[in-house]
Amino acid sequence: MADDRMLLAGGRVIDPASGKVRLVDILVEDGRIARVGKGIRARDAQRIDCRGKHIAPGFIDMHCHLREPGYEDAETILTGTQSALVGGFTRVCPMPNTDPPVDSEAMVRFQIERAEQAGYASVHPVGCCTRNRAGKELAEIGSMREAGAVAVSDDGDWVSDPRVMRRALEYAKAFDMPVISHCEYDGLSDGVSNEGLVSTRLGLRGKPWPSETAAAARDIMLAEFVGARVHIAHVSCAATVDLIRWAKLRRVQVTAEVCPHHFTLTDASLAGFDTNFKVNPPLRTEPDRLAVVEGVVDGTIDVIATDHAPHTSIAKEVEFDKARPGIIGFETAFSLGYEQFVLSGLMSPARYIEKLTLAPARIMGLRTPSVAEGTEAELVILDLKAQWTFSSAQIMSKSHNTPFLERTMQGLVVGGVLGEEHFWLLHAA
Ligand SMILES: [Zn+2]
Ligand SMILES: [Zn+2]
Repeated sequence: MADDRMLLAGGRVIDPASGKVRLVDILVEDGRIARVGKGIRARDAQRIDCRGKHIAPGFIDMHCHLREPGYEDAETILTGTQSALVGGFTRVCPMPNTDPPVDSEAMVRFQIERAEQAGYASVHPVGCCTRNRAGKELAEIGSMREAGAVAVSDDGDWVSDPRVMRRALEYAKAFDMPVISHCEYDGLSDGVSNEGLVSTRLGLRGKPWPSETAAAARDIMLAEFVGARVHIAHVSCAATVDLIRWAKLRRVQVTAEVCPHHFTLTDASLAGFDTNFKVNPPLRTEPDRLAVVEGVVDGTIDVIATDHAPHTSIAKEVEFDKARPGIIGFETAFSLGYEQFVLSGLMSPARYIEKLTLAPARIMGLRTPSVAEGTEAELVILDLKAQWTFSSAQIMSKSHNTPFLERTMQGLVVGGVLGEEHFWLLHAA
């Protein structure tokens, strides 16, 4: 629990908006940032020694799965938002492929209220594009928006009927929301791994890259035609990065995200048939991985999102073909990205943090994350030098499906402040 007054002293504050890093203190009073400046004196405040640490706005994950309602054995809104907070995500946007799906005002309210009761990361739901995610009739987009939905998507499936997608884009435009497209072209999407040398060698059914790129192409063209905003989820291959780059040159209102597993791993990892490497879209080749990294660096890809997809061990401990795709992602995302983009010298810490804060906020129409006086305290404390090894004992998610166990990483979210309720310092600094 936070004291009424708290002084985060001696940390380096990263401001993704200005790109500046300043050595300043932050005084938090009643859950709000009361002062930001050098040498703040506040004798009665709880003093948190942040020397050697960095402080940034809390992260926003615009693509995750919290599984409630319907799959509470894999995750609940409570355990998912706890896991998010440990990973530095103070706000998350769950996808609507629950059971029942989030396709109505009542379901949107249910998720927001559940998260408020839980009291960890706040939840900004993504509603379904179509009723019951069936791809036929539009869901109640306007009333879901009223209730607090921030985007629409049939994530898990592509909206294959072009007339339905066109209408979804028109409606979403009227309510100033993006449509998030899970791109998988019908007839090319029944594989379990990337189609290529590795799938042939291992005898796995392949899913070729045009499955993703062709679907993205149709949705980008429809968005341009309608003048709506489309967001391409979990970009995994080089051709999709090229396509989005081209679309941005045409000034299409397209944005895109990449997940840490796609910029970290390739299909070479499938050699052991470990189902923790089975994700959708599948891990691709090294040239694809490099293209995705380049897309993040040159701004073609706007956001890093986890696609946190918890599954029970029953769903994963089966043969590769039958295992559910997806991995948990909140607790490793920051560190994997930090290594890939900042330690490698490709991006500054502030530009990297922008992909986790300002960019998703802009796309989802959420309050701008900042470290400004007068705003609610929503901060993470980072130890950028910390080397740590991810162990299952640290996992707060209800599910443990991750290929990153026992991996040693650099850069760690060591704590944070969220409003009046939460101050956490979980990892010994
Ligand atoms: Zn998806
Ligand atoms: Zn997803």
